[in-house]
Amino acid sequence: MRLGELLVAPLVDGHAVMEPEGIFLDAPADGLRQEGLLGSGGLLEFPYGSFLVRGPAGEVVLFDLGAGPDPGFFPFAAPRHGLLPSALASHGVGEADVTDVVLSHLHADHMGWATVDGQVRFTSARHHVHAADWQHFAESDASPHIRARLAPLLPRVHLWSAPSVELFPWLTVTVAPGHTPGSAVAELESGTDRLALVGDLMHDPALIRHPGWAGASDWDAGLAIAERRAWTARCRARNTPIVGAHFPAMLPVAVDGEHGGDRV
Ligand SMILES: [Zn+2]
Repeated sequence: MRLGELLVAPLVDGHAVMEPEGIFLDAPADGLRQEGLLGSGGLLEFPYGSFLVRGPAGEVVLFDLGAGPDPGFFPFAAPRHGLLPSALASHGVGEADVTDVVLSHLHADHMGWATVDGQVRFTSARHHVHAADWQHFAESDASPHIRARLAPLLPRVHLWSAPSVELFPWLTVTVAPGHTPGSAVAELESGTDRLALVGDLMHDPALIRHPGWAGASDWDAGLAIAERRAWTARCRARNTPIVGAHFPAMLPVAVDGEHGGDRV
């Protein structure tokens, strides 16, 4: 999709299938059903991957990096997975062309391609990570398998710790803690067009209508709910569409009117 001078494309790496309890801590089953979230067998199915953004000065940015090639690393992956490299190639982008990687947070389904077999995958790219997430995942025992995967990335990582950082005139990242300590939202702006890439701040557009549904994998669910409410209000006020990392087909929705959640 075109966003002013920017080109934005979702790149699906794979789909996850899991019990709703893996995502929603206390959402009522009726509510999940009414929102169309439960597929066959009462399971949730959702995509994961990356967003490719091409900027006006040759910037090639990936927002998140899917779950990687190894099904053992992210055990919820459906059989067809590891699709990010081919999705990127289908847009005519080589892996060495990527100038910047922005990671919304460091869960396995968002940083999986950061390193493969101990090697940094996107060798030319600066990898932007909020310092609180790096500290939590790369420097503590929170998740040893993620920490091991992050270790080779150290020379390429650019930590940020201010509440908000302008990486390019058209790209600002803002910390929105809750899902993880350093979860980030990226706002794209070009001309009159805007888009908020919210990572896992909202698992599904239904969260625009139900911001109080707590996340089962949230580091601090209360904080995540507060950030979700604040970002929903901000995007509604600024008429900014939202896309979450796991939205259906990884496509944006509008946050207009009383309820929001219409596909743009
Ligand atoms: Zn996720």
